[in-house]
Amino acid sequence: MKTLKIAIQKSGRLNEKSVELLKNCGLSFENYKSSLISPVSNFPLEILFLRDDDIPEYVQDGIADLGIVGENVIRETEVEVSYLQRLGFGKCSLKIAVPNNNSIQHLDQLNGKAIATTYPVILGKFLKEKNIQADIRTISGSVEISPGLGLSDAICDLVSTGGTLKSNGLVPFADVMSSEAVLIGRKGSENEELVKELIQRIQSVLRAKE
Ligand code: ATP
Ligand code: ZN
Repeated sequence: MKTLKIAIQKSGRLNEKSVELLKNCGLSFENYKSSLISPVSNFPLEILFLRDDDIPEYVQDGIADLGIVGENVIRETEVEVSYLQRLGFGKCSLKIAVPNNNSIQHLDQLNGKAIATTYPVILGKFLKEKNIQADIRTISGSVEISPGLGLSDAICDLVSTGGTLKSNGLVPFADVMSSEAVLIGRKGSENEELVKELIQRIQSVLRAKE
């Protein structure tokens, strides 16, 4: 019999809730320790523990049948996958924020400014839509300290409570996208029996929570 693979984040903000969801589906497996793959003992499924950034491509390429990842990562990697189910956790927004002593009040004022982000694709599309020409500075992390270092005039980063922005002297200025964790699959794969069964289990766990 075929064994399905589902990719989830190995550590980070989505790991715990992803594991909890799968356990609530009645699946029995060990959480990530050192091995990348954990077999499920009571369902033909293997859990792949990956960095979240790699999950959309693994699913697109068919290495994993399913994945749990933030919509922000899917949009940024521009892959062709199907959204099977919104999962209700990992909620956050991608926002542009500016230093709180700044005079920027309208989107137009971002013209000619430098914006630091780890989401250049999503930010680029947003700015294009709004007809704004800004200099996107792609960095790999700690985006929130870049205005203070003089590296940028504004940032575009994920925000949930806003605490990180505040403690770095930044205020949210514009919403670029809102995001939550979603279950993704390959286009067409939702019709396979095992995939269908797993989606149904996940949906009934979510319904029970409502
Ligand atoms: P990895 O090591 O897997 O690459 P990461 O550092 O890129 O991890 P995390 O910080 O664990 O990622 O965030 C994973 C996802 O959690 C994000 O892509 C986003 O969808 C969601 N998320 C929810 N709230 C926040 C937040 N305040 N900041 C960042 N991500 C958040
Ligand atoms: Zn990541």
